[in-house]
Amino acid sequence: MAEYRYISYETIDDGTIARIALDRPRYRNAQNRGLLVELDDAFGRAERDDTVRVVILSGNGPSFSAGHDLGTEDMVAERGPGPDQHPTFTCNGATGGKVESRYRQEYHYFYDNTRRWRNLRKITIAQVHGKVLSAALMLTWCCDLIVAAENTEFADVVGTRLGMCGVEYFGHPWEFGPRKAKELLLTGDSIGADEAHRLGMVSKVFADAQLADKTLEFARRIAQLPTMTALTIKDSVNQSVDAMGFTTALDASFSIHQLNHAHWTVESGGASVVGTPALGLSEKLVTAPIRPLSRSEA
Ligand code: ZN
Repeated sequence: MAEYRYISYETIDDGTIARIALDRPRYRNAQNRGLLVELDDAFGRAERDDTVRVVILSGNGPSFSAGHDLGTEDMVAERGPGPDQHPTFTCNGATGGKVESRYRQEYHYFYDNTRRWRNLRKITIAQVHGKVLSAALMLTWCCDLIVAAENTEFADVVGTRLGMCGVEYFGHPWEFGPRKAKELLLTGDSIGADEAHRLGMVSKVFADAQLADKTLEFARRIAQLPTMTALTIKDSVNQSVDAMGFTTALDASFSIHQLNHAHWTVESGGASVVGTPALGLSEKLVTAPIRPLSRSEA
């Protein structure tokens, strides 16, 4: 896969830094299957390349990513059947029954791929700005470091809008802390870059106009470390949180997520894998704009 349709890939500084950009600005970089498969290819390409030391993941356009693609024409066409059907919709469980195919497909294309990127053999930096919604959090959290523009808003809205218990890669309690995770999921409220920095989730907050330059500067600093040092630092931290239960908790939460999909599948008689107002969700909550988290507003 030399050329990409939904992302871009470039190397900088004699190939030591790879920069991957989500490139569907018209759709706020909503993640369709084609994009996710290309992203997996691009991460793998950076991993295979012994010259690459640091990988930056960014997004073109006004926002890093609006989350999963829930209905663009690309997404409808790739689900097929038809000439534009993506090959991954004919394998990896896609042809099974509704609950099984959801379980298998989400495992491969939302969960296991994200976990693979988290364990990439290179140092990764998520460079985010604008809206970072729901599944966009997964792309952010799987990176080793997160830097954000001042205008960034982070939110997982799937609880209030889709009746779901969070996205498939359930990093929420680890990134926000348990109570804040519950609050953010139960309200769908957003936190800004400064709050994410205060929580320790974000390393740097840069002025919007300087985001790309400052991120590159930061990446260059990290690229100076011996590759073995950088990798062993990453592995020591990742294996420490794994010993604290991180990956086991993610596995468990993914199973609960599938239970939640199965619930809506049954409730809707097989018509929907998520909740809708017709299935009892509050129309008011479903359509409400995302509110910034507030200490004093109810
Ligand atoms: Zn799901």
